[in-house]
Amino acid sequence: MIVMKFGGTSVANYEAITRSVSIVESRLAEKPIVVVSALSKVTDLLYRISDSATAGDRQSVEELLGELRRRHISLVNELLADNEPLCVQACAKVDEICDGLDSFVGAVCALGELTDRSKAKIISHGEWLSSNIICYAMNARGIRTGFIDARMMMKTTDDYLKGEPLVGEIVKNAPETVAKAYEGADAVITQGFIASTMKGEPSVLGRGGSDYSASLIGMAVDAERIEIWTDVDGVRTADPRMVKNTRSIDRISFEEAAEMAHFGAKVLHPLTIEPAVMKNIPVYVLNSMNPEGAGTAILQSDSIEDGVKSISFKENILLLNIFSTRMINVSGFLKRVFEIFSENKVSVDLISTSEANISLTMDASQNIDKVVRELSEFAEVGVDTDKSQVSIIGKNIVNLRGLLRQAMSSLGGSNVYMISQGASFVNISFVVDRASLSDVVNEVHKYLFEAERYESGN
Ligand code: ASP
Ligand code: MG
Repeated sequence: MIVMKFGGTSVANYEAITRSVSIVESRLAEKPIVVVSALSKVTDLLYRISDSATAGDRQSVEELLGELRRRHISLVNELLADNEPLCVQACAKVDEICDGLDSFVGAVCALGELTDRSKAKIISHGEWLSSNIICYAMNARGIRTGFIDARMMMKTTDDYLKGEPLVGEIVKNAPETVAKAYEGADAVITQGFIASTMKGEPSVLGRGGSDYSASLIGMAVDAERIEIWTDVDGVRTADPRMVKNTRSIDRISFEEAAEMAHFGAKVLHPLTIEPAVMKNIPVYVLNSMNPEGAGTAILQSDSIEDGVKSISFKENILLLNIFSTRMINVSGFLKRVFEIFSENKVSVDLISTSEANISLTMDASQNIDKVVRELSEFAEVGVDTDKSQVSIIGKNIVNLRGLLRQAMSSLGGSNVYMISQGASFVNISFVVDRASLSDVVNEVHKYLFEAERYESGN
């Protein structure tokens, strides 16, 4: 069995879905479990619907719901143009799903209040619609396709909008659910992203969570491999939107991929790798617009050579500087500091400490007011909001003599506010002015990948 996950751009419209269905068709012998995202931008649209409903803005809600329905109905009409009976059935299905959503959102509008649980229900509709439609499209193509409601097997905690998967439950449910759906079928399809709590309430895995769904399912059924189909040729040496001459990477280790995703590369959801590692299942990142391309293989570390693989960055970070003379020679200071982060559920990316100073970075989307207040009770705290973080990632880069010196020498005029070299030996990160981020990333990329000037040593 293999898992094939198709992201939003790979199922965005008639052409994309037709291509993706052909890719599935080429792998039927390997018994695919197809995992789909919502059509591109539909989850954003559902978020806007939730917001307008909470604000009680009926006119906007109606417009947006109309847009959602029209987009899916016209897609069905295109996909099933040659199959009148299936087309009628599929349109009825889309209408039924949209009618249900309309009345639910209507109720939210009347109430003017939206719980996380109700929001999870609303934003689940993107994957529900896409999976139903693509199932029809596959059947129309002659691929007998079993349909799986992901909520029957994907169980999470009741953090409705960012549910943590209950791995034990998923491992228990998935093999049987998949086997049943496979009876008499050539392939099965299910939704990424959406899940349910143990009480059966709707939940989702957080934005971009379909990759994570795919790897959890792959792990649970002991898949031979997990394919993540996207719209780029695999993982690249840097984000091509920022850097001109990027290359695609043939193979990277699980650890490198996890580090890249965590430190800002937008190719994979950061938690995707974890379940794959548990069972050592290779993950391939592939381009549905170029299915013959080799993509990137993410494999066990043993089969990956040492060296720099990529540069990632996080543009919007907070840099927190904590200063206290009380820290000197006092044990337990760090513990106190980190307890505050942990109690407030703020997650930290980089840390570097000296005698009287701790510098930390974190994602700017987090609210740290309370953390700052609590820290200020016993230390001086400064927060910089105009910084960005750059990470050089590669296996055993610590062995590359002088890498850091060379990377730094390519920084030109930019100041470096903090450097952190992970003990993991796969990541060297530093913090620079946001205004110079693009220059820094391009310069470092040039230095590392376009000139091959660093010396590798051991
Ligand atoms: N549709 C969801 C999102 O846009 C999940 C995903 O595509 O991975 O966040
Ligand atoms: Mg994605």
